[in-house]
Amino acid sequence: MIDDKTKPLIKDNVRRIRDRIASACNKAGRNESEVKLIAITKYVTADVAALLLAQGVTSWGESRPQLLWEKAKQVQGVEWHLVGHLQRNKVAETIQHCQWIHSVDSERLLQAIETEAGKQKKIINVLLEIHLSGEAAKQGFTVEEIPAVLAKCSSFQNLRIQGLMTMAALNSTSQAAQATFAQLRQLRDTWNPLLQPPHKLSELSMGMTNDFEEAIAEGATMLRIGSALFEGLNQETH
Ligand SMILES: *Cc1c(COP(=O)(O)O)cnc(C)c1O
Repeated sequence: MIDDKTKPLIKDNVRRIRDRIASACNKAGRNESEVKLIAITKYVTADVAALLLAQGVTSWGESRPQLLWEKAKQVQGVEWHLVGHLQRNKVAETIQHCQWIHSVDSERLLQAIETEAGKQKKIINVLLEIHLSGEAAKQGFTVEEIPAVLAKCSSFQNLRIQGLMTMAALNSTSQAAQATFAQLRQLRDTWNPLLQPPHKLSELSMGMTNDFEEAIAEGATMLRIGSALFEGLNQETH
């Protein structure tokens, strides 16, 4: 339920995050237009998330495919990003709704997206998720796997490789998170020449509520921010 306080609260949260993004960009000597805020809406209902549109936040992400499908059916005018694990049997429905998939972590999934995008006559933007933190349970390609994956990309017509995605280890210090993000940027620079247009590695999706300033310092172009946008909401919606 949306009460009287929710709308101004979201507005304040968006303003505060935009200010922090602006000062981190300034500090890094970067232009704010290079950094896209993607609102991760998994903590709230579609009607609360819809309040973001009035603040100009129109790129949204979900980590669970089904929740993305549900919200995409309820709210119009959103550019959707899937940021969590995607099983191949959910590719068809997912790409009906979303333009970006950040969390591609296997060649079989790439192939499934390519095939299904072809059937639906769509171009789907894809980021390769890279596992850098050393935690056993994390999704993502290992660094060693990537050159072979990139070598096969020229055959893809219906998906576009656009960049890389990673997550810092859970509870990492600010310095550890920044080191992970620096590593992703360096890998991007190393691997980018291995791709032929239209595939490229221009996007770096990294940085969440606790570490987006570190990510901006290391060249993030897409921030995935959830908690900080919905801070202060009551329990039912948060
Ligand atoms: C939940 C989630 C986010 C947002 O995290 P916050 O810490 O709430 O900003 C970003 N990326 C992924 C993959 C997520 O699952």
